[in-house]
Amino acid sequence: MSRIQETEITRTIMSSYHDKLLGSVLSDVLVVGAGPAGLVAGFYLTKLGFKVTMVERCLAPGGGIWGGGMAMNEVAFQEEALPVLVDFGIRHERQPEGLYTVDSVELASALILKAIQAGVTLLNLVTLEDIGIHHNRVTGIVVNRTGISGALHVDPLTFSAKAILDATGHEATVIEKVRRRGLFPDSPLYGHAGEGPMDAATAEAFVVERTGEVCPGLWVAGMSVNAAIGGPRMGPIFGGMLLSGKRAAELISATLKQAPQQVSCT
Ligand SMILES: Cc1cc2nc3c(=O)[nH]c(=O)nc-3n(C[C@H](O)[C@H](O)[C@H](O)COP(=O)(O)OP(=O)(O)OC[C@H]3O[C@@H](n4cnc5c(N)ncnc54)[C@H](O)[C@@H]3O)c2cc1C
Repeated sequence: MSRIQETEITRTIMSSYHDKLLGSVLSDVLVVGAGPAGLVAGFYLTKLGFKVTMVERCLAPGGGIWGGGMAMNEVAFQEEALPVLVDFGIRHERQPEGLYTVDSVELASALILKAIQAGVTLLNLVTLEDIGIHHNRVTGIVVNRTGISGALHVDPLTFSAKAILDATGHEATVIEKVRRRGLFPDSPLYGHAGEGPMDAATAEAFVVERTGEVCPGLWVAGMSVNAAIGGPRMGPIFGGMLLSGKRAAELISATLKQAPQQVSCT
């Protein structure tokens, strides 16, 4: 083993992370939440040529995937999601009932690995605290270290982007910053009772169909869609999550390519 110095270990980590952090100040797309929807969206967006930064408040990205259903580490998929599993190189098995199963740990690991290798900058232990709005458009996120957020009297920092994607799952934390203040009153975020009770078939269609831009600059994907716009919950079937992430990437890409000059951030 080569002789190493502790100071060099520290300097190497600091300098490398500093570069990553500086590169995240301004992105094409900021994804909040590294669950299945966010990871898939980030993967396809980078493949489409966009600079993507993803923040995740937990130590381990992957969101609600790891535990499968009731801590049995298998999740179910419909046939429509197979192309996404293939793009990520995830093994799957056809079951007699017509569904496919995937090991949830392989699923989480592969989504994280492939998203990062595709070029997504993923910052874990970073929590969204608020949003930034300029010229009637959501243009940024206000973030803090997870250990600091809510615990210490320390100011957060801001990242900006042309598009922000709420992929924070049941909590829809980005959307809540809009809704709590009654901003963009014409958006579909208002006038419903929030996430509905279990109805897997309806919920899976809903999450994909209603993925989209909910107010200028702010898109929603995954379970946040159902929480934000009032769809039912669906349990540990993940086709809708993957397809919602992919659809979000396609919609954001189309919008940014169509009118890049109109989409500026501060
Ligand atoms: C305990 C638990 C119970 C669940 N029960 C059900 C159920 O009964 N029915 C159902 O349909 N689905 C349930 N789910 C969710 C299920 O796993 C999802 O369908 C799927 O994981 C949703 O994927 P997603 O990508 O939309 O969000 P998630 O997998 O939830 O990922 C969201 C990610 O966003 C991160 N995040 C949240 N807020 C912030 C923030 N402020 N800043 C930064 N990051 C943030 C989270 O840490 C998480 O990693 C449950 C999930 C959990 C964890």
